[in-house]
Amino acid sequence: MKRVGHLINGAVTLNGERTQEVFNPSTGEADKQVLLASKATVEEAIAAANAAFPAWRNTPAIKRARVMFKFKDLLEQHADKICQLIGEEHGKIAHDAAGELQRGIENVEYACCAPELLKGEHSKNVAPDIDSWSEFQPLGVVAGITPFNFPAMVPLWMYPMAIVCGNCFILKPSERDPSSTLYIASLLQQAGLPDGVMNVVNGDREAVDTLLGDDRIKAVSFVGSTPIAEYIYATASANGKRCQALGGAKNHAIVMPDADMDNTVNQLLGAAFGSSGERCMALSVAVAVGDAAGDALIGKMKAAMNGLKVGPYSDPENDFGPVITRQHQQKIIGHIDHAEQQGAKIVVDGRYPKVAGHEHGFYIGGTLIDRVTPDMDSYNAEIFGPVLQVMRVDTMQAAMDLIDAHEYGNGTCIFTRDGEAARYFSDHIQVGMVGINIPLPVPVAYHSFGGWKRSLFGDLHAYGPDAVRFYTKRKTITQRWPSAGVREGVLFSMPS
Ligand code: NAD
Repeated sequence: MKRVGHLINGAVTLNGERTQEVFNPSTGEADKQVLLASKATVEEAIAAANAAFPAWRNTPAIKRARVMFKFKDLLEQHADKICQLIGEEHGKIAHDAAGELQRGIENVEYACCAPELLKGEHSKNVAPDIDSWSEFQPLGVVAGITPFNFPAMVPLWMYPMAIVCGNCFILKPSERDPSSTLYIASLLQQAGLPDGVMNVVNGDREAVDTLLGDDRIKAVSFVGSTPIAEYIYATASANGKRCQALGGAKNHAIVMPDADMDNTVNQLLGAAFGSSGERCMALSVAVAVGDAAGDALIGKMKAAMNGLKVGPYSDPENDFGPVITRQHQQKIIGHIDHAEQQGAKIVVDGRYPKVAGHEHGFYIGGTLIDRVTPDMDSYNAEIFGPVLQVMRVDTMQAAMDLIDAHEYGNGTCIFTRDGEAARYFSDHIQVGMVGINIPLPVPVAYHSFGGWKRSLFGDLHAYGPDAVRFYTKRKTITQRWPSAGVREGVLFSMPS
């Protein structure tokens, strides 16, 4: 059985006594094992990163950026292999994996701008003969802990920027689909990155707790579920580390009575069921304003869902693949059962789809639930599956109140032809990323990504300009070179 190890100090190692099975969710079979790093293995990676830091910190930013240029080329050259690995372990169809990778590559492109991004700020003559400037210095060794649902893209949100800013990096990817992440990191070595600058340790809580407890780790970026995000943020902060911890979501779309309903249905289909709903920006709730809009939405969605194809990652004709594990499949079915028991109406039932030839895969078909109310457990939970819940309210304000009352605030959108309504919505809604007739408003790489409320713990968002701030510390230098003959007197008051 193939074993997935770690990347430490430039070499792939198979350290670790404990292992965990890695499944192919399309077949339901475990055909690989991932090694779970012990404390000693994680400490070996931290030591390698720490040793690499002084030289990497002093490498000119343009040279650091050149590694990223080569890395981008290698990612493009090896895209098919990366998408294959994502498909095998995550279950994503190739077209979806390619989209994920492209979004990751865009973060590498942004990292190529390092010399420009790190220029700092300069003020000449803040007082006679005195200049002042701020520069952005790297933190040292920083860590990233990432989820299963974007094994290529989410790590690429983190380490390209951390590394071009002059830091060394330890990545702890999801143990459920580790191979594409490890493979991508090994391309960085081929791109010419010095040994030890980028390290990957596969593992579970033991690895995470080692990173959180080690004084040599200066900052932690986390993306995953909210309970773990909260734990990571509290522990890392208590240990004096800078931390950004992005958590879960429940993303609502408001469907206004004037929306172009055919277009809205097309947008909702992709955003609710693409990637089996396993996206933190997946649209999981549609809030129809008025019963007429609700009825039209349900009627058109039901018809459109007839054509949805769920099946193995290897068939490009499929719209989406399986969910990540058998346990997750059962959890999603439990949410649908609960919604039904609590009085919601299952309009399209995807609980037990038949996928010929893949009977043991972890499949859930597209599911549409009508008449969901805020007291239902399935509404309050993040289902993270191909399930769209529909709610009905009388006014746009009532829809906004619902969204604002939810614990999560990652993404939201509105479908309307009314510019005034859209502008009011985007200005007032308590959510970090907003779409107007855009179902998945994931910011491009040169903006930053982050939710509000319990979707993000910390001050700075992921990637883009916020990443430069997160992965550097500001130093401000004030310098005097007195003009010839000028002598300063003694000054006891605050210089001004
Ligand atoms: P998860 O929280 O289970 O795991 C994330 C990471 O934390 C993994 O590396 C895992 O090994 C580690 N981990 C898990 N349990 C831990 C524990 N007890 N102690 C220490 N570390 C632990 O998340 P997941 O199931 O892999 O990913 C899905 C979740 O991620 C969803 O909630 C989704 O919304 C969220 N997500 C959020 C964003 C965002 O940007 N806000 C993006 C992608 C995914």
